[in-house]
Amino acid sequence: MACHVTADFIFTGAGFESGQVLSIGDDGRVLALGSPPPGGAPAGILRLAGRVLLPGMVNAHSHAFQRAIRGRVERPGPDDFWSWRTPMYDAALRLTAPEIEVVSRLAFIEMLKAGVTSVGEFHYLHNRPDGAPPNDETEDPDDAVLRAAEAAGIRITLLRAAYARAGFARSTDPMQRRFVERSPEIFLARLERLAARWRSRSPRVTFGVAPHSVRAVDGAWIETLADFARRHAGDRALTDASFLPLHVHAGEQPREVREAVDEHGAPPILALERAGLAGLPYTAVHAIHVNDEEIAALSRPGVTVAACPVTERNLGDGAAPIPRFLAAGVRLCLGSDSQAEINQFEEMRTLEYNERLKQGRRILLLPPGARTPAEGLFACATVHGAGALGLAAGTLVPVPGAATPWADFYTVDLSHPTIAGADADPDTLLDAVVFGASPAAVRDVCVAGDFVVRDGHHRIEDETVREFRLVMRRLCGRP
Ligand SMILES: [Zn+2]
Repeated sequence: MACHVTADFIFTGAGFESGQVLSIGDDGRVLALGSPPPGGAPAGILRLAGRVLLPGMVNAHSHAFQRAIRGRVERPGPDDFWSWRTPMYDAALRLTAPEIEVVSRLAFIEMLKAGVTSVGEFHYLHNRPDGAPPNDETEDPDDAVLRAAEAAGIRITLLRAAYARAGFARSTDPMQRRFVERSPEIFLARLERLAARWRSRSPRVTFGVAPHSVRAVDGAWIETLADFARRHAGDRALTDASFLPLHVHAGEQPREVREAVDEHGAPPILALERAGLAGLPYTAVHAIHVNDEEIAALSRPGVTVAACPVTERNLGDGAAPIPRFLAAGVRLCLGSDSQAEINQFEEMRTLEYNERLKQGRRILLLPPGARTPAEGLFACATVHGAGALGLAAGTLVPVPGAATPWADFYTVDLSHPTIAGADADPDTLLDAVVFGASPAAVRDVCVAGDFVVRDGHHRIEDETVREFRLVMRRLCGRP
């Protein structure tokens, strides 16, 4: 039986419209979005009164376990990206697989409650705390993250990350023993075994590959992973897309750029392209420290930049040259990365605010085709993120010839103080959501027709918070 949902306003891609009905099929995909038939609204319609309904947002770059260090890296000591990694590595080494599951589940619930229905989980914890490969699924951090996503109900693309070394001309750091695998063949065999366990188990799980960065893997690793992505484009054992998502950190820190030039004779984006990414669809995460030639490479169709502005300001990474990206036609999506905060609304507006601070002017990010900054920023938070993960998500409008979108959406409460009054002028409603809404204004969240959040409450929120607090007490040495 199809089900039908309506709200005061529904975002149809071009803007908000009232009197629309979203019809959802038994398979969890959108059947139709439009005006009710002439005879009136269908029977059994769910009316979400006083709410606006929007397509679920896509968090294209996440490290869920880093939720465990939020608020614990803000004292004198970890004062730059490189020193911040020490407490992050400490947490990565001490969390057991069941604890990684709890921490990830809490992060995913927080994302859902903030209107995020899909996550690209860039996951690089693969081994036991002693560095040995897991003996079974209960010890495997990869399975732990997927179990967390399944319980929370979020759609996930697990971007299994490859990590081989501490950096150019550096031997392996023992602090990285949970990340490192001995060869690309071992990495890929574990990916394929993981996908075999999960693709038949849940339609919400897809996969991609992620050479961690040019510092963590050498050219031979990048070439092998790029070749795998090329050979497995559209492989249903891994993805629903016509390509295999490939994501990589690049251009986050000036030191990384210098080391890439030393090793490859080229900065990170060009080094990656030469090592095998040229011609492939891929997503470059951060791309803050990039030159004109790299921006030209990033503007190729199929390539996306994942900006993580809330994390980048927390870590002092810098801000990507977004106006130059827009001028070159680079496609942008957004990610919560370190989970310093999980707030996709804040990620959107921070891109624009960073430019206002730099330029001393306002209304600066207008990609081609966008009438307002909010339109372009909302596309980054939805359809562009879905494109980077190969998901039929981020929109509720079926497009002929494309995969039918999943019924992934959220509602915002028009009486919440952060958004109240915005419906007085529907023309600026999206601006009010992008520049004013808080995750606390999100009321209902639905993934594939399944309401995982109702009235602002996730169905397993209370027990997950209780379990997470116990994990944190152990991590902080307070049994
Ligand atoms: Zn990252």
